[in-house]
Formats: sequence, structure tokens, C-alpha cells
Amino acid sequence: MKKNDELVLEITDMTDEGLGVGKADGFTYFVKDSIAGDTVLCGVTKLKKSYGYARLIRIIKSSPDRIEPPCPVARQCGGCQLQQLDYGAQLRLKENKVKNALIRIGGFPEEQIESLMEPIMPSVKQLRYRNKAQFPIGRGKDGGLRAGFYAGRTHSIIAQEDCILGAEENRIVLSAILSWMESHDIAPYDELSHKGLIRHVLIRKSRAFSELMVCIVINGRELPNKEELIKTLLDALDKEGSSMLGSLSISSNMKATNVIMGDSFSTIYGTPYIEDEIRLFDEQDSDKSLDIKAEALSEGAVQSVRFRISPLSFYQVNPLQMERLYQKALSYAELRGTETVWDLYCGIGTISLFLAQKAGKVYGVEVVPEAIENAKENAKLNGLGNTEFFVGRAEDVLPSWYEEHKGTGSRGATPDVIVVDPPRKGCDEACLETMVRMQPKRIVYVSCDPATLARDLKYLCQNGYELKRIAPCDMFPQTVHCECAVKLERKILKSKK
Ligand code: SAH
Repeated sequence: MKKNDELVLEITDMTDEGLGVGKADGFTYFVKDSIAGDTVLCGVTKLKKSYGYARLIRIIKSSPDRIEPPCPVARQCGGCQLQQLDYGAQLRLKENKVKNALIRIGGFPEEQIESLMEPIMPSVKQLRYRNKAQFPIGRGKDGGLRAGFYAGRTHSIIAQEDCILGAEENRIVLSAILSWMESHDIAPYDELSHKGLIRHVLIRKSRAFSELMVCIVINGRELPNKEELIKTLLDALDKEGSSMLGSLSISSNMKATNVIMGDSFSTIYGTPYIEDEIRLFDEQDSDKSLDIKAEALSEGAVQSVRFRISPLSFYQVNPLQMERLYQKALSYAELRGTETVWDLYCGIGTISLFLAQKAGKVYGVEVVPEAIENAKENAKLNGLGNTEFFVGRAEDVLPSWYEEHKGTGSRGATPDVIVVDPPRKGCDEACLETMVRMQPKRIVYVSCDPATLARDLKYLCQNGYELKRIAPCDMFPQTVHCECAVKLERKILKSKK
């Protein structure tokens, strides 16, 4: 075999990234857009010693799990890796991904993982579940203004104003912005020349209050014709949308970078935040809610918290699943009302405030200053004075706070529970090390990356903790990503005779 050769492959497995896996002549091939159970004709694109990559040319026999992707540009866009896979098969793939990571990277025995893992929580919505979208603005191949996604390895944009994972209102907002740009001759940003003004549009929607936040990221300091933009947007939403414009802001990002947002933002209409409300349910009710429409969920909530979210703050993208995940994390924390808890990587305080409703005291740590401002406001908004928030990296704040307070009798230095919810790269070892020294009875680890989760659990279990429960949760249908909540307990050390 050599590059560009064609071959027929039976796809027998899939990688964690969603590539089909097939074997021929002792070689393993990875084939994008194919799924387990397919027989495909493919063309070799890259060959290594024992494996290679191939592109799908034609499906000869379809897998029973194969479905027609609901989005017409699914293959070109690449944002969804699993649209051609039936939802049940998506869930099995994710469960296996979590299991494999814990066994291979974490070094846990398979039987232990099998017995501790709860069934994955399916997403109530499999499309239109995202409350946040970020669209690049640029030009199409014909030079016309476009909002959508970059065509693979190029600087031109394929129009996709209505991503089917996102809110229907995105389309209304984007076409209003494009028509405003058109009529005022405002140029989109061009990655190559680093010229042009409008880079990205961030849109967030509050599920509870049907409010939209729009933030325009610009390669400049000022937005011309602001008043017309506001009017165009308000008119468009008034005419078509079911949501109100709650916040319109600009964020200046003049760096030649693929980071989307600038470091700060300024509000040009409405408030510098939008509000959302998260409601938690009894475990039994939350299971029932699977069959129920999203809106019916609010009845019977056992806990609710209202949140202010700024354009720079992290906020979970799938609100219905977020409720189920937090409910699980909270039940793993087993709070009775008097406990002292740390919530590391706390964002705007989402988990912290639910914890605070059931604990004596909660400390939160988060690196983004605007998110901590939101967290403090949110604590006030919900009357939760038993909280304290720190800006900084968890791996800096926790060790230095601990050094200063250990041995002083401060309960923060000997917490009952530590909750962590780090980004994909997981926890820094300095953070894990301090957590272990603080000896909480329980650690609840919320993770969006099974590989770094497995690595960190290995460390914690080598340092006095025991894995108790693992709950995968599908926050991101159609993609290969999988979220988990994990419960750990401190081993009771046998006293030396
Ligand atoms: N628990 C929150 C946020 C989780 S996302 C929620 O569920 O909404 C992870 C958060 O960690 C983000 O807000 C990110 O800004 C923050 N973060 C990233 N690196 C960090 C670090 N080293 N120390 C503290 N926070 C960090």
C-alpha cells in the first residue's frame, strides 16, 4: 500500500475521537466519517510503520448504527464528529471512552470500573441543546460576507448561520449583524492580512428567561454606527425572535491569535450580563424528566439558584444536562448543613452556590476575574453569605492559603469536601498535592476529559483516596466529548499497633 491507493475496509471499532478503525494486511487504518459496522471504500492519505489514515470514498455496506446526519454540512464543519451515529451508539462509545481511560491511563482494574460506573446520563435534547455559540465573520469564496465556520485549511468561511446544536435565534442575530455590516460597509476580519474589523460574534441564551447576550469581537477599539446596530438587532428580534436582547457588548481583540475573546469587554446596550436560573431535582424526578419536554422540568425543583453571566465567564453550554450533572455532584458531596467545602475552578459559582445552600461554608477559586465578580454578585443575589471567592490559579491559591492557615484551627484548612471542575487539561499536581494534604473526607471530581480525569484519579488513589462512584453524563451529543462526575473517599487508615 502507498499513499492514494484505494482499499476496501471493514470498520470494526472506533477511536475516542470518533474515527472508524479497520484492519488490512497487518495494518490498522483510521478512517474519518466511517463508523463501526460499515464496510467502506477508502483512499490512503498517510502511512506509518504499522498504521495509516484513509479518507472515506464510498460506503459499500452501512452499519446498522448509521443514520443520515441531521446537518447538511456536518462533514465539512467538523464540529460534530458523531452525527452519522445513532444516539444509542453515541452513548455506548462515550461510556467505553470513559471506561478505557480509567483502565488504561488510570490503571484501575476493569471489574472495579464496571462495578462503580453508573449508566451514562443521556441528554434530554440531542439537537439545539447549546446555549452558546461563537461564529467567525469573514468572506466566502465569492467575497461575500459570511458567518459560519472556516472551510478546512483555508481562510474563507462557509455560511452556517443556523448550527443545529444551537439556538434558533442565532440565525436572526447573525443575519441582522451581516446586514448592518453590509449597509455601513464594515469589513470583516481577515486572518491573513490581519485587517478588517469584525472577528467573531458570541451569542448566549438564557434558558430560564429567554434573554440573549451578544458580544461582538473586533479588531479595533471602537465600533462605528453603534446606534444602527442596536436598532437593527432589536427590530430583527422583535419581528422574528422569541427572545429579548438583554446584553450587547464589544470585546476588543487586536492580537493575531486564534483565541476568540479579547481580555475585556464594554457594554453598548442593556446590562453587562444576562441571567439564568438552574434548578435541581430529586434523583428520581430527574430520571423521569428524560421523557418530558424541557420546559416541564421546572416543576418540582428541590433547589434553584439564579446566575449572572458575563461574556468572559465560563458557563456550561447544555443547561438541561448541567442540572443533572450538578445534581449528581451535589449528591456525591453528601452535605448535611454544617460542612466546610472548597469548590476549585468555580467559574461564576454555579456549583459553589448549590453547595452553599447545603453546607456551612464554601470557598471558591477561579482564574478569570470577571467570573469571580459574577460569583460574588451571584452569592448576593441568592442571599448566600456563607461563601468566599478567590481570584487566581487553583494550584497557586490553594497551596498558599493552606500554608497560611494550617494549624490555626481554621476549618478551611481541614475541609470536609473538595469539589474540582477543571478545564480539559485537568488539575495541576500542586493542586492535587495540597488537596491530599488537607485530607477532606470526600473529593468530588467533575471532569470534561476522561484522559486527564484518569491521570488525576490515579494520583489521588495512590495518595489515600478510594474511587467510590463514576457518573458519565452526555453534555455534548453529536460530539465525542464526555463529561463525568466522580466520587472519592478518604481511606480509613488502620492505626499502627
Ligand atoms: N464549575 C464551573 C466552571 C467549570 S469550567 C461551572 O460548572 O460552571 C473550568 C473553569 O476553570 C473555568 O471557569 C476556567 O476559567 C477556570 N480555570 C482554568 N484554569 C484554572 C486554574 N488553573 N485555576 C483556577 N481556575 C481555572
